[in-house]
Amino acid sequence: MAVSDELIEQLKEESRKKGEEMSDEDAREGAQNLVGFFDLLWEMSKKDSIKKKRLKTEPDGFPVDGTYTCLVCSNRIDETNGWYDWYGQTCLLCRKAVKDGMIPTYIFLHRNSYFSMSSLKYRFDIKHQTAKKYIKEGTLHPRIILNETGTPYEYLFLKKENPALIERYSASRKSYDRHNKKRAEAWSRKLKAEMLEDLKNIRRK
Ligand SMILES: [Zn+2]
Repeated sequence: MAVSDELIEQLKEESRKKGEEMSDEDAREGAQNLVGFFDLLWEMSKKDSIKKKRLKTEPDGFPVDGTYTCLVCSNRIDETNGWYDWYGQTCLLCRKAVKDGMIPTYIFLHRNSYFSMSSLKYRFDIKHQTAKKYIKEGTLHPRIILNETGTPYEYLFLKKENPALIERYSASRKSYDRHNKKRAEAWSRKLKAEMLEDLKNIRRK
């Protein structure tokens, strides 16, 4: 997609509305970024619709066509260990767990309906060993994805099967959000300072 003069003018107009004047050069660069972004989105959606069409004749799916992330365990997958079907792309182990009914298919539609083992650590500071202890005690109820040898490969904790996590979630989420807000504010202050510094340098030139 080419950058049109119309788009450049529109960007300048938008920034004028916000009380800022945009140079031709900045507007052109902004327009180029925008067009690049839409080209990327377009390419992605084209690839997606080709895959969806292929699923109509191969309803059981087919190997992925490059490097992706498994939607369940988040491990890297490629043509050799990744599969694509109506649920999206998964590694072969997670796919088998879905097929065997070890994990419900709704997790693909409701991405926030479960916690992974790594998110227990990240969200609640519950380490792997502690989680295993909770599982043994019956406080946590995992869905276990097995590897080829039948040993656990990944644990998923469905929210609806783990009310103990949800209670803990609300408390820790609050502190997590507070922390995040502070970080975002600090970051935007830093960005503003850097931009001011840049502006000063440009004026000096
Ligand atoms: Zn996986």
